[in-house]
Amino acid sequence: MTDDQTPRRPEWAPDDAGDAFASRVVPGAGRNPERSDWPAPPASRRALTEDDYVAEALAGDRVVLARAITLIESNAPAHFELAQAVLRRLLPHSGRAIRIGVTGVPGAGKSTLIEALGVMLVERGHKVAVLAVDPTSSLTHGSILGDKTRMEQLARRPEAFIRPSPAGGVLGGVARKTRETMLVCEAAGFDVILVETVGTGQSEVTVRSMVDFFLLVLIAGAGDELQGIKRGIVEMADAIAINKADGENKPRAEAARAEYNRALHYLTPAVEGWHVRAYTCSAATGEGIENLWNVVGRYRERAAETGAFEARRREQARDWLHALIDEQLRAFFYNNPTVRDALMTVETAVMAGELPATAAARQLLALLDRGDSPA
Ligand code: GDP
Repeated sequence: MTDDQTPRRPEWAPDDAGDAFASRVVPGAGRNPERSDWPAPPASRRALTEDDYVAEALAGDRVVLARAITLIESNAPAHFELAQAVLRRLLPHSGRAIRIGVTGVPGAGKSTLIEALGVMLVERGHKVAVLAVDPTSSLTHGSILGDKTRMEQLARRPEAFIRPSPAGGVLGGVARKTRETMLVCEAAGFDVILVETVGTGQSEVTVRSMVDFFLLVLIAGAGDELQGIKRGIVEMADAIAINKADGENKPRAEAARAEYNRALHYLTPAVEGWHVRAYTCSAATGEGIENLWNVVGRYRERAAETGAFEARRREQARDWLHALIDEQLRAFFYNNPTVRDALMTVETAVMAGELPATAAARQLLALLDRGDSPA
């Protein structure tokens, strides 16, 4: 054992522990300079530079792609700068994919449907990326796509890339990361992006704002078919898939489709000239999945003809900018040390009814002018 291999007191040992401290730390073996025949650490373990990220992401390297996404998802300020530099250079190479959002209540069959569609598409030569927006994932440890047993067949395909929802925090943060991940995937040559989300309401609005086509997955239920699913979400959909149209359930699924189509008749379509319709499918047997893909294709054609496709993307980019400004303004405000110090006192005064909320908000905002910029 060489000198530096001698066990030593761990850094966290209490100062007054003396030599009696029971724990010892043995340093790692490290790289032996005398053994130049030992292999260098694999590329996947080396710190990548901005150029590495860009070149290898553009080459479609899945390992680097995953690392670029980890970089984007990182909350460390140092990673943020590098991630933004990489994104900026990848941006001109993005945008060529069709972006499809998939929503529906848990158990409707979203994952099964995405897998069936994804496998069909990779067999046709597409490269498919599956992303997720699940703001609850930090609580549930990734309720969607988190479970490794899901989408097993698709996950085995080298032409597919599956990424669970970025964990942690507010929907805005999760959405930003997913959106940027989508751009990296597109630059890496993925031409179909599927973004899965849970039926919580707000996350649908968010996913709708980042995709070209929004698919709502439903199952036939008893009674009023429109019950249980918020009308607002139906209004956001570009198509409705009534899933599990197989076996004994098929007639009920057909009936639900007819009922939805009657209701959809009265809704104003989001895209001029595009009629939102309900279709039946079975993610389990694969029946109707090809038809759904054809619906997406027709939509893309139609929306491109009318200019709605590009218009929607431009609006989404603008809305996203404003969402980021909102998010950064909030952070700027709440991270300001003077605001932080004053906030509790002002809050207490508002709760006690001593200070009107409007005056309180103004008072706090005025603190920003004092030049105490956040760290
Ligand atoms: P998600 O929560 O919406 O992602 O739903 P899953 O894809 O996990 O599916 C929920 C359950 O429904 C699973 O047990 C699936 O096997 C089943 N399932 C999904 N699609 C179908 C289908 O088309 N037909 C039938 N019979 N079962 C399905």
